[in-house]
Amino acid sequence: MALNPKTRPIEFGGPAGVLGLALGLPIFTVFLNQMVRPDYYIRGFFCNFDFAQLWNGIKPWHYYLTRYDLWTYYTVWFVSLAVMSVILPGKHMQGLPLRDGTKLPYKINGIAISSALALVLSARWTLTGGQMPELQFLYDNHTDICIITILFSLVLSILCYLASFVPLLRGNNGVGTRERILAAPGHTGNCIYDWFLGRELNPRLGPLDVKLFCELRPGMLLWLLINLSCLHHVYLQTGQFNNSLILVNFLQGLYILDGVLNEEGVLSMMDIATDGFGFMLAFGDLTLVPFTYSLQCRYLSVSPLVFSPYHIAAIIAVMTLGFYIFKASNHEKAMFRAGKLPHLKSIKTATGTSLLCDSWWSLSQHTNYFGDWLVSLSWCLATGFQTPLTYYYSAYFATLLLHRQQRDSHKCRSKYGASWQEYESKVPYKIVPYVY
Ligand code: NDP
Repeated sequence: MALNPKTRPIEFGGPAGVLGLALGLPIFTVFLNQMVRPDYYIRGFFCNFDFAQLWNGIKPWHYYLTRYDLWTYYTVWFVSLAVMSVILPGKHMQGLPLRDGTKLPYKINGIAISSALALVLSARWTLTGGQMPELQFLYDNHTDICIITILFSLVLSILCYLASFVPLLRGNNGVGTRERILAAPGHTGNCIYDWFLGRELNPRLGPLDVKLFCELRPGMLLWLLINLSCLHHVYLQTGQFNNSLILVNFLQGLYILDGVLNEEGVLSMMDIATDGFGFMLAFGDLTLVPFTYSLQCRYLSVSPLVFSPYHIAAIIAVMTLGFYIFKASNHEKAMFRAGKLPHLKSIKTATGTSLLCDSWWSLSQHTNYFGDWLVSLSWCLATGFQTPLTYYYSAYFATLLLHRQQRDSHKCRSKYGASWQEYESKVPYKIVPYVY
């Protein structure tokens, strides 16, 4: 069998569909941010919606190409994190086996990088007497920085696409050739489709794995900084820390911290194990995560709420329930796959692995997705009921998880055949137990 079998462009409506997404998603993200600005923000059921406001402040495209200050700041941010990812100490791990029989080495050092960032922020807070001009700059140039990250993702994904045609420069692959290992979904021969889905499975620059790095560092940490910039903005304006903003910062900070503490789990996820690194992931990691996941904080920064302790407790309860389901179900699958829960009911498959159909994994095929979605809902609830716009994240995440479940089902059906059918008959619900 060929190392890189060709596939057909079937996902997302083929080449036309991905072109639509590549154009539509960035415009949508910019418009979303334009609807939450200090000088104009959506109220109620979009009662003050004004189409002209979506364009207000947006400059011609060449303006962004020549915003050298923003390009410099963003490149410094990206490169500093990349350098830290390579040099700071961490755990050395191996990824899942690749088609050539080898496994790639990864360095997992999120704790060291996050600690370094926390140290820098604390030092800056002390040195600037709480003024933190860099956070103010981030807050004031929000939409412009968002557009720079879109262009950056575009450049990065084009470079990765072109590099995927260059034979390996150092050493052979596991089958003794210089061929790069390509991602099955992005090796169709259609350049638009392959660029969008990502042609090479694991683009690397020396020791830096570009896909893992983008997935974990520049976007996730920028999300944290944007949230902090919103809290800080209101603090500078009022001299007080607003409790609804503290709550969202705390809840989302916990989620990010959990991701950092359990980084190695990402190595077996679809994004790392199956998908290539194309515009879809570059844009998702570098723009969509920081500039749409922070929408709740952004909204609260222009329309802050003051919560009662009961309100805070109710929101924390929703987050705790979701987080518990998310963690417990993921942990159970990991323990089962590590052979530590042999007493749980399962289905043996022809590949040698078993499908768990007991405990959390008897309630639905992805109880973990349900828990994760409840977490997203708790963040939206923390914006009160001012406008449905701030519930965008829950709606988006539900769509993402539904699509992911369908992709995963398709993958497992072709991988496990009759065993997957047996599993589906035993565990009929896909995500929400007894509902869907
Ligand atoms: P899952 O953790 O559900 O993993 C699916 C894989 O697990 C399948 O491909 C299959 O892989 C294996 N599997 C499926 N069913 C079983 C079973 N019954 N028993 C044993 N193994 C099974 O999905 P993801 O990797 O997509 O997501 C992991 C976590 O990340 C989730 O909690 C999700 O909510 C979260 N997530 C968060 C995102 C965000 O933006 N915040 C985005 C995406 C995911 P195999 O081939 O090994 O059998």
